[in-house]
Amino acid sequence: MSNCIFCKIAKGEIPANKVYEDGQFLAFNDIHPKAKVHILLIPKQHIESLQVVDAAHVAMLGEMTVLINKIAIDAGLHNGFRVVTNAGPGGHQEVPHLHYHILGGGRLPGF
Ligand code: AMP
Ligand code: ZN
Repeated sequence: MSNCIFCKIAKGEIPANKVYEDGQFLAFNDIHPKAKVHILLIPKQHIESLQVVDAAHVAMLGEMTVLINKIAIDAGLHNGFRVVTNAGPGGHQEVPHLHYHILGGGRLPGF
């Protein structure tokens, strides 16, 4: 998607404070952090949200989910973390490229 901000970050066309990168995934600090640690984990491939995933995405989603703990530990979240993903207008998703918010540090409000 040529006008997708997270695709542009994945391609290095706009800067981000990266905390993890491999061939398939990228994680970077959220520009407006809602917790002491607030990292966004994205697949480099453009996928809009969990609303459009299917059986073809199972392996990718599994790898992405396994990455969460590594990224959280590397960010110092040894005591735990919260993962949020917003999907579609009903989920108040603002950037239509699948991403997991990894939140922690300090005391998070109850959900
Ligand atoms: P969502 O509402 O789940 O789509 O969240 C989008 C998130 O992306 C928000 O928390 C924004 O602060 C964050 N965000 C938007 N643009 C950027 C950017 N250029 N770099 C880092 N985070 C961003
Ligand atoms: Zn995208």
